[in-house]
Amino acid sequence: MSYDHELSIAKEAVRQASALCAAAQAGLTSSEQMDKADKSPVTVADYGAQALVLKILGDSFPDDPAVGEEDAGDLRMDENAALFSKIVDYVQKVDPSMEANAILESIDRGGHSGGATGRFWTLDPIDGTKGFLRGQQYAVALALIIDGEVALGVLGCPNLPVNPSDPDGEKGCLLYAVKDDGAFQAPLSDLSQAIPVASDSISEASQAVFCESVESGHTAHGRSARIGELLKSQATPFRMDSQCKYAAVSRGQASIYLRLPTRPGYEEKIWDHAAGFIVLLEAGGKISDTFGNPLDFSLGRTLRNNKGIVATSAGVFEPVVEAVLQSATESA
Ligand code: AMP
Ligand code: MG
Repeated sequence: MSYDHELSIAKEAVRQASALCAAAQAGLTSSEQMDKADKSPVTVADYGAQALVLKILGDSFPDDPAVGEEDAGDLRMDENAALFSKIVDYVQKVDPSMEANAILESIDRGGHSGGATGRFWTLDPIDGTKGFLRGQQYAVALALIIDGEVALGVLGCPNLPVNPSDPDGEKGCLLYAVKDDGAFQAPLSDLSQAIPVASDSISEASQAVFCESVESGHTAHGRSARIGELLKSQATPFRMDSQCKYAAVSRGQASIYLRLPTRPGYEEKIWDHAAGFIVLLEAGGKISDTFGNPLDFSLGRTLRNNKGIVATSAGVFEPVVEAVLQSATESA
């Protein structure tokens, strides 16, 4: 089964949403953001990107449901009218045909419950909204899930340097993968310039570079420092928001991405991992939860049977999982 058509539509949708986000990030004001009920921030760009991507998917694949992070409930309230009109402006700059109602309906196409059968898309319109607000890294993350397995994923990373060894050079990358077809990266400025990407081939965990969330609420920084000690890691870890961490491991900038639970009841969201997961797998990496169990994308909107994430290049996966397990025993 070929997914060429799905991939080309997904790449174009993520490219357009990334352009909207980059334009919004450049001039973001306090009136263009608010807090959701769970106190996490959301901006005009999160909503605008979800509206654009789900419109493009709906036009090409009208029967495919979507699991998206945002819903338009708050935008239908009078008190958010000013914020909503900014969203309409941003979306119409990219797609002048989208009227206000079509924008609300498109955002609400993301309410599917996911699950084990059939196909659906999952979208994080801005993964790493806190990084987006700090002017740092974020990603537009889109994946197609079929019968509970990730079939393809696309990551738009508007602030990620195209060449990891030239951090001051051109920024803006699209990383993507279809299952069993390898992983690729292209500059967002020209998708025809795609090159294959591969995770590194180190076999000594002591040489591994770690990456982790900036936010201490999203991963336990102290526990990862202990895991670094157990692995005798020499290199300085770096912190970055969003699924750009999967991109970093996929192209050999880091060997290890750890996401270590900070509170017992938290369930990772499928849209926070599906696209990065398939890109890294196809780049030669390995991924499990913090118990070494495979990620299960078939259970609905969350990875409710998994706890945390361990994502690495293949040669260091086993010792890293062992150190993660040992650190759990120590803190018990
Ligand atoms: P990152 O930029 O890697 O820190 O990840 C951002 C994502 O963290 C957001 O999209 C949230 O869905 C997710 N998130 C929110 N709260 C938590 C939590 N307590 N533990 C792990 N992830 C979380
Ligand atoms: Mg997210």
